[in-house]
Amino acid sequence: MSGDLFPPPAGPRLWLSNFASARSEGHHGPGRVLTIMRRPRAHLGEWGEGRVETFAPPAWMLPRVKSGAMDFATYVRCLKDLWSSCYGMRPGELGYEPLGQPSPPLIEVVSGDTLCCCCARGKPCHRWVAADFLLRVGWRVTLDGRDVDRDAVAELLKETGDGTPG
Ligand SMILES: [Zn+2]
Repeated sequence: MSGDLFPPPAGPRLWLSNFASARSEGHHGPGRVLTIMRRPRAHLGEWGEGRVETFAPPAWMLPRVKSGAMDFATYVRCLKDLWSSCYGMRPGELGYEPLGQPSPPLIEVVSGDTLCCCCARGKPCHRWVAADFLLRVGWRVTLDGRDVDRDAVAELLKETGDGTPG
């Protein structure tokens, strides 16, 4: 691959985690906490400061995934298809909808922010797929406390082909 002779410049970094890991060293970045859940539960603090709609799974998928009608491998394939354009994912393009405003303008997601789901660490979660896409478009990613590259994310997705994501 051309362009690989020199290490790429250090890019902006996002953290991907769950809300429960807020106090675990290295699992959340220094910036804002944002949800990537379709149905965050406010009473459990699953909204954070707003939602990154780009990485929230479509509502129609969730009952199928939870019932097992759609297995994790299929869920991953569907999300990859859905997100394949990488539209709005790049640094400077990715945004979130802040809470508490009707039709709010997007606010830029910046280096240091943390994108959260509620799934436990180590459980299959769409944040693994989100990590892959963020890496594709130039973010650096810390996933559940670990700096990952696309190979590491691919291993995760391969190992857990039939789990129960949330
Ligand atoms: Zn999840």
